Amino acid sequence: MIETPESTTIGYQAESILAGKRIAEVVQATSPHRFTWYNGDPLLYGSLLLGREILSVRGHGAFIDIVCDDDIILSISDGVNLKYYPAFEKHPAKHQLLIVFEDKSFIAFTVSMYGGIYTFKKVFDNFYYNNSLNSISPLKDEFDEAYFVNIFKRVKKDMSIKALLATEQRIPGLGNGTLQDILFNAGLHPKRKISTISDFERGDLFHCLKVTLKSMTDKGGRDTEKDFYGHKGGYKTILSKNTYKNPCPNCGGDIVKEAYLGGTIYYCSACQK
Ligand SMILES: [Zn+2]
Repeated sequence: MIETPESTTIGYQAESILAGKRIAEVVQATSPHRFTWYNGDPLLYGSLLLGREILSVRGHGAFIDIVCDDDIILSISDGVNLKYYPAFEKHPAKHQLLIVFEDKSFIAFTVSMYGGIYTFKKVFDNFYYNNSLNSISPLKDEFDEAYFVNIFKRVKKDMSIKALLATEQRIPGLGNGTLQDILFNAGLHPKRKISTISDFERGDLFHCLKVTLKSMTDKGGRDTEKDFYGHKGGYKTILSKNTYKNPCPNCGGDIVKEAYLGGTIYYCSACQK
């Protein structure tokens, strides 16, 4: 799933390759997928996109926007895999959208569980999209400790730390995936009630959140996700589906795997209070 480290990485990678390319062909889904969301009729995407030149690509939160001339934007949300192919490669058999450029290179969009592929002119009336676009990224300096404390002030005190940080998109692009290592580094249990977190622990959590997300981004995303070229990210996850069978890197104890609030959580019950 795309979270801030991946949307930022793929945004940079895609812009360096795609800026200046012009769209020559829009190939509809070869393999319709029940949980792929579109805005309006995807058969009409071609009429918006054909002939457009790509100006830039921006990642924000759990979205990646391919910005074209004439104010046309093609945006994907987390769950959509966006991959680049040079001209000599064959089109993949299954995709939910494929775009060919004038130089015959192409990008393919595939969805595994669920995801959104949207095309629109200038404005997209979607809460999550606009919330993501208009929020301050946790990678930015403006996302400082005062900003972080304010997020705590706006919610009920009996909420768990996972519910606060990784649901309702209070911090767009911080989802259940990146959350695991942030809480491990901060020594906090995902179910910990925020009313029991001291000011000192909250300060430490803020620091861990910034450092962990920055490290994930600097290394080109997490090793559980793929980048624009189909390569796994260079950040080695501490707690994820790849690692939970290993002992806790801190104390050597067992890692617990559990379903909680619509996602799998991993934690060490000795190290995370
Ligand atoms: Zn441990």
